[in-house]
Order: sequence, then structure tokens, then C-alpha cells
Amino acid sequence: MMPYATAAEAEAALGRSMTWAEALWFRYSAAMPDLWLMWHIALVYLVVDALAPLPAMILQQLAPGYALRHKLQPGVVAPQPSLVSTYLCYMRESTRVSLAILGPFPLVYTLTFKLFGVRTGLPLPSVWETGMHLVVYTLVEDYLTYWLHRFLHTKWGYEKIHHVHHEKTAPSGFAAVYSHGAELSLLAVTIFAGPAMVPCHVTTHWLWFAIRLMEASDAHCGYNFPFSLAGLIPFFVGAEFHDYHHYAGGKTRTNFGSVFTYCDYIYGTNKSYLHHKRSLAKLKTMKEVEHNMKGSSVKED
Ligand SMILES: [Zn+2]
Ligand SMILES: [Zn+2]
Repeated sequence: MMPYATAAEAEAALGRSMTWAEALWFRYSAAMPDLWLMWHIALVYLVVDALAPLPAMILQQLAPGYALRHKLQPGVVAPQPSLVSTYLCYMRESTRVSLAILGPFPLVYTLTFKLFGVRTGLPLPSVWETGMHLVVYTLVEDYLTYWLHRFLHTKWGYEKIHHVHHEKTAPSGFAAVYSHGAELSLLAVTIFAGPAMVPCHVTTHWLWFAIRLMEASDAHCGYNFPFSLAGLIPFFVGAEFHDYHHYAGGKTRTNFGSVFTYCDYIYGTNKSYLHHKRSLAKLKTMKEVEHNMKGSSVKED
């Protein structure tokens, strides 16, 4: 809750007029208890979890031929009677996680992040400050999750925790959060380690959490569309890279990265993936040569 009763008091404390975003933030949050403001992280989860997988699902329904051309495991096609029933089915799967998020997580988050200096008042962070925070949080999360993921692929980690996430050998966007409760708790630690190290405004927390959830949904969408971020950002994980991790199965020792692939390059945990890609490329070339040869022999006849 802000210590100002009116906008004029807030502007006097700032020593300048509020920006339109700050005026909006003041109207929305000035009288709101911090506990409720922090709980918004659950709303961020619910909205992003419900919406992020939709673009791939809509394409799958409206342009199945186009979607199938870019499907990473084209042999695995789940029954899809309609967009609505498929969506409801996926949502049922993630309800368990949603309930966990709506329950203790916001409370733990609130109690913890008060200690780490999260800001809720004015001024709002600039675009530059927000961008720098997001870069730091991404790098911290990516490095920690790489090692956490490797730990989860030890015999103990896999049998006790990570096997739930690997039930999906050909994942869809909703599989991003389909995990054991202990894994979700550990992932929450890696996601919010950055904000704990470099405190920021609560709005940056929401933005960071939303971006991370969207990235996870993209990595599990099951399609390698030409417009996906992996084609635009160097070393970005993307669906093709993470889908291979699921395809290879629980005993795999490859593709552990969560946002970027550079840790897998540095620590040599992408060798079987690179070999797989080279084999696929060779097979494609052989098929093209065979196809061209058949074409020329038909012409000669
Ligand atoms: Zn795994
Ligand atoms: Zn996964």
C-alpha cells in the first residue's frame, strides 16, 4: 500500500508529474494491501498458462496441413475432436498445478520477497532498468536450471521427481508445467533467484514470470514453426531442442538448457542431439537424391 492518499501527494514526493503508466499504477494499487498485490503472481500464472499454448493449438486446428509439416514428432498425433474439447482436456491436466499455484505459492512468495526488497510503489522502473533486470534474471535462471535439470536426471532425481514431467514424450504447450510438485518448487527457486539477488519492482516480477512461462510453453509446443524465436535469437532453446530431450526419454543425458543452449555446448551435453540432427540431414539429402533420380528415369522412359 502506498503512503500517499492522493495523486498530488505522490507527485510531490516524486518531485515531478507522474507518467501515464505511473498514474495508472497509482490508481490501481495505491490502496491495495501488499499481500493482495503479491498474490497477483498467481493471476499471471493462470492467464499465461491458459493463453500461451493457444496459438499452436489454433494453427493445429485451422491449418492442420501446415501444422503437420512443422510438427517435431509427426508420428505422434493426439486425437483432437475440436479446439474447445482439446483445450478443456489440456486445462484439466494443468488444474492440479493451478491449484498448487493458487494455494501456498503466493503466500511463500509474499513472505519471502518482502525480505528481498521487492518494490511496490513509485516510481515505476524505466524500460532500460526493466530490460537489464530481465537479462540478469534470464542468465541466472538459465544457469541454475541447467544444473537443476542435470540433477533431476540422476537416478534418484528422475525416479523420485522428474519422471512425471517425462511422461510426455511428445509434449504440447501445456506440458511445460506438467511436473511433480517438488520440481515446480525447485523451478520457482531458480526463477526467482535473480529477483532475489537483484531486487526490482513487483511489475518486473510479473513480466519476468510471464516471459519465463511463455518461453517454457514455446519449448514444449511440439512444433518448429519458421517464425519461432529459436530462429531469431542465437542459442535460444526453442521447441526443436527441448522436444528432442523429451523424445530421447528419461535416461537421456542431452539438452538440459531451459532458455539458452550454450551450457549444453560448454559442458558437452548436446552431442547426441547434434548427431541426431546430422543423421536427419543426411537422410533428407539421400531422399532428395533418390527422388531426383526417380524423376529423371521416368523422363527417359
Ligand atoms: Zn528432463
Ligand atoms: Zn520439458
